[in-house]
Amino acid sequence: MQNIVLFGPPGAGKGTQSQKLIDKYGFVHLSTGDLLRAEIAEGTTLGLEAKKIMDMGILVPDEVVIGMIDNRIKANPEAKGFIFDGFPRTVAQAEALDSMMTENGIKINGMIALVVDDEELTKRLLIRGQTSGRADDQNEELIRKRVQEYSTKTMPVADYYTKQGKYSAIGGIGEIEEIFTHICNVIDKF
Ligand code: AMP
Repeated sequence: MQNIVLFGPPGAGKGTQSQKLIDKYGFVHLSTGDLLRAEIAEGTTLGLEAKKIMDMGILVPDEVVIGMIDNRIKANPEAKGFIFDGFPRTVAQAEALDSMMTENGIKINGMIALVVDDEELTKRLLIRGQTSGRADDQNEELIRKRVQEYSTKTMPVADYYTKQGKYSAIGGIGEIEEIFTHICNVIDKF
């Protein structure tokens, strides 16, 4: 069983690569962004509260996403492995994830970071916003805010995994297939 954290700023290609990894390895995909958008679509109280925060381009409270991930791990005891996409986004979330893994007798094998510069990210997100219907992809100011949140609150998560000897970085610009091959090469060595 492999459990992977796919890391990178908004627009780095985590969703695209996750999909390909699911097809190849049969991972259960846990994307906190997707889980939050599902709550919004269902109109739950959690979703309504989260939407206000997401519309500001900032992170929702740790306890909200930690609770959602905990539920999804427990709901999938037969999983071949999990791929975490957009989680953990703070050091507190990373620590909580380690505790949840230990509690369930599993562990994170490694973090794979997709590296893409800020200019390319803004360009990609604005293009994605034309078709994704995501309000947070359509406004350049909001995109900059999300990238800034990533730099201040999320980047330290890379150090957290580096200290555990679990960090690998991969260039996230280029052909999707080529990037996918690089990711698979890293996973196959875990
Ligand atoms: P994403 O789809 O991963 O780009 O996430 C969209 C938005 O959902 C983010 O801008 C945050 O407001 C919120 N979000 C998603 N995942 C997390 C997380 N792990 N921690 C806090 N907020 C999150």
